[in-house]
Amino acid sequence: MSARLVLATHNAHKVGELRAILAPVLPDLDLSTVVGSREVGGPEPVEDGLTFEANALIKARALAAHTGLPAVADDSGLAVDVLGGAPGIFSARWSGSHGDDAANLALLLAQLADIAPEHRGARFVCAAAIVTPDGREHVERGELVGTLTLEPRGTGGFGYDPALQPLGERRTCAELTPDEKNAISHRGQAFRALAPVIADVLRGG
Ligand code: IMP
Repeated sequence: MSARLVLATHNAHKVGELRAILAPVLPDLDLSTVVGSREVGGPEPVEDGLTFEANALIKARALAAHTGLPAVADDSGLAVDVLGGAPGIFSARWSGSHGDDAANLALLLAQLADIAPEHRGARFVCAAAIVTPDGREHVERGELVGTLTLEPRGTGGFGYDPALQPLGERRTCAELTPDEKNAISHRGQAFRALAPVIADVLRGG
């Protein structure tokens, strides 16, 4: 399979993560053909969708149009039950400054300080989309359901990982190994669900 696939992220870590997720489910895919958007001078479209799915599609459409290649994108965040699903699509800039993980986490835990453990339900959500240059579109969603701790715990991961304790776990996501988190994560679920569609697109189906 020599067709190329571009991934709408400037984050080399995410390119590696996608290769790791796709390798077992697409054994005949040449993983060197999975490249990040930086390698193809990809655009940075305005993410003005109102859902994770809409924003993943915006990113994938822009990259497919720019490159003429099948493009994959994801959009993710944390949805807290008692906040009606917030921070949601605003997860990366909840404290006002985009990508300030420590400030975003500190603000969220302060806002929820008086909320009892039984009412601290929350989930990570990821939408993963593929768009082809001829307009084929497909999007899948993955969720990692858990509860928010009162205090952050653990040093692994990123973002809100130190506060999200998956259901059935005594550890937070920041206390799991990367492999343990990938196996259950919202991103892993969404991309594994998308994998058959990616395979079909790359085979020219
Ligand atoms: P993006 O999809 O990479 O733009 O992520 C949006 C934001 O959601 C990140 O900045 C994090 O705050 C949060 N987020 C998404 N996925 C995770 C995760 O796996 N762990 C912790 N935080 C996450």
